[in-house]
Amino acid sequence: MKISKITVDRSVCIGSATCVVIAPDAFELDSEGISVVKLDALKVDQETLLNAAKSCPVQAISVFDEDDSRIFPA
Ligand code: SF4
Repeated sequence: MKISKITVDRSVCIGSATCVVIAPDAFELDSEGISVVKLDALKVDQETLLNAAKSCPVQAISVFDEDDSRIFPA
């Protein structure tokens, strides 16, 4: 399993910044206070990325593998 894509659903994110705290190299809040995936996010280790996704209180973060299958949320 290799994480190849991460997305944030802007319509779901509530800007809690939990993902930013857990993986500051992968996520940041934009000017609207919504999380965006940073350019080098995929360089962050996979466990941290998955933990960040799992930490989201509204499951706005989706994580995909190299086959474009969604790893999280399952
Ligand atoms: S943890 Fe979820 S709700 Fe909070 S900022 Fe990140 S994506 Fe948005």
